[in-house]
Amino acid sequence: MHPFASLGLNPRLVQAVSDLGYETPTPIQSAVIPLMLAGRDVIGQAQTGTGKTAAFALPMLHALQPEEHYIQGLVLAPTRELALQVARAAGLYARHSGAHILAVYGGQPYGPQIRHLRQGVDIIVGTPGRLLDLIRKNLLDLSHLHTLVLDEADEMLSMGFIEDIEAILSAAPARRQTALFSATMPMPIRRLADRYLNEPHTVAIEHKQRTVEAIEQRVYFVNGRDKLPALLRLLEMEETESALIFARTRADTGALANALTSRGFPAEALNGDLSQDAREHVLRRFKQRKIAVLVATDVAARGLDIEHISHVFNYDLPDNPEVYVHRVGRTGRAGKTGIAITLATPQEQGKLRRIENYARQRMTRAVLPTAEEIHASRDARFRERLMVWLRRGRGMQERAMVERLMAEGHDPLDVAVAALKMARSGEKALPVTPIAEVSLERRPRHTRATARRGER
Ligand code: AMP
Repeated sequence: MHPFASLGLNPRLVQAVSDLGYETPTPIQSAVIPLMLAGRDVIGQAQTGTGKTAAFALPMLHALQPEEHYIQGLVLAPTRELALQVARAAGLYARHSGAHILAVYGGQPYGPQIRHLRQGVDIIVGTPGRLLDLIRKNLLDLSHLHTLVLDEADEMLSMGFIEDIEAILSAAPARRQTALFSATMPMPIRRLADRYLNEPHTVAIEHKQRTVEAIEQRVYFVNGRDKLPALLRLLEMEETESALIFARTRADTGALANALTSRGFPAEALNGDLSQDAREHVLRRFKQRKIAVLVATDVAARGLDIEHISHVFNYDLPDNPEVYVHRVGRTGRAGKTGIAITLATPQEQGKLRRIENYARQRMTRAVLPTAEEIHASRDARFRERLMVWLRRGRGMQERAMVERLMAEGHDPLDVAVAALKMARSGEKALPVTPIAEVSLERRPRHTRATARRGER
């Protein structure tokens, strides 16, 4: 017997998951499917990647009454992407049983949704705002609802959907099955479960990290306009043997590579605009360590196979958490440790949390080096280079020149000072740009503009 059949699922669903290559149920599926099939309410503490979508979608499909053209299953999801993902997965599981599944989300025109709803939808998946809109417009008939699922409840909460969710839960018939999934269980989620779930059974699945532990992951919060100065400070302070910097667009990669080059960090862009020859040339120079910094888009970095990259920088946060994991996996290969550094704006805290939930790893909140630290490090590095020459004791021509200057009556200390000034003139061309402090508190929008603008 197929392991999914022994959970009690009907043969058409078992066939569908078997088509997809699922051989054994994941822990959350083994726990949740039998409970939901028995009609119990469930709280699932599990993150993306654990197989939670199938854990609720399969029992929901199992319970569908065929040929009833009413909404029998409702799934609330925080974002458009997730709603689409859940609807797509449910569609795959329903391929042998047939079910009308509709995804709805904000920003979509109402017309096609209304048409679909009229034709009869069995399962609707949507973001809370849009679902509530449809309910208020009397376009959703929930009187035949059998199962209601809240997916990524903590995300919906942090996106401010709590009131919409409560309104939807109140609009749904009281005799229904409810399942709530959440990566974390903060108080408001527990309260929601207490109020709207009926003697729920809790299933918690422990975390497994997706990113490699050998990779040190740090995030620095900066305002958007301070990203370049922040990156420059980090490049200066980190011992970057070879860095791969990810930027959002092709144009960004070119502009950033130019900006870095003109500020003392020779960099090249790797993007889709390059011809195959130019691409190979850039990659060869990077592999041979002739250039230490490569600025790439995700697409251009695809298939990039480089032995050791000491640092991966996320100059821009990717929208898709999987992309983050993929980028970060470029460093720390072959048993070596790597460092992944992310720049995020205060507005991106939600996105960052989604990435961390997905990666199942928290990034260290780090503080940018201050201008004083940068200057101190420049002094230290200069001193080190000077010590090398002092120890070598060579430099016959230079010594002869100093002797001539002394014979002309110059003080050797003055000569040394002047020589140091000249030797360090290049640094003057690389001033340390001030960076505004960021405010990470959640403030109402209207007071944000007056947030502290300290300089560091
Ligand atoms: P989810 O946590 O629901 O986003 O699922 C993560 C991924 O695991 C999806 O790509 C699923 O298709 C896949 N998946 C879910 N359940 C199983 C299973 N029992 N065996 C293999 N893959 C699965």
